[in-house]
Amino acid sequence: MIRDDGLWTPNPTTHPLSADRIESETVTRHNEWTIEPDYGPDVDPPAYVLTCVSEDEAGRQCLADSGEVSSVTDYQEFIRLHLWGHPGHRSYRLLAELGMVARPAVEPL
Ligand SMILES: [Zn+2]
Repeated sequence: MIRDDGLWTPNPTTHPLSADRIESETVTRHNEWTIEPDYGPDVDPPAYVLTCVSEDEAGRQCLADSGEVSSVTDYQEFIRLHLWGHPGHRSYRLLAELGMVARPAVEPL
C-alpha cells in the first residue's frame, strides 16, 4: 500500500505481519493482538534498502543495493538505473525498517 505521501507501508488487511492477529499467552490467555504500522510522532520514518539478488552464471549474487532510501520512488529509480546497466538483473530483495505497534483487542488489567 502506498500512502498519500508516497511511502510504502504494509496494507493492514493483506500484509502478513500486520494482518496477523496473534493470541498472546504471555499477557492474558484469551486476548487477541493486532500488529500494525506505527505512525506516532515519536517513531522514526520508514527506511528501505533494495538489493539486487540476481545471479550470474556461476550462481554469485550481484548484491548491488540502493542504499537507505525513504520512498518507493527512490528504490524504483534504483531499479530503473540498475536495469539500464544490467538488463538481466530482475530479482531484488526489499528490507524495510518500519515502526510497528501491537494493540490488544482488550487492554490487560
Ligand atoms: Zn544486479
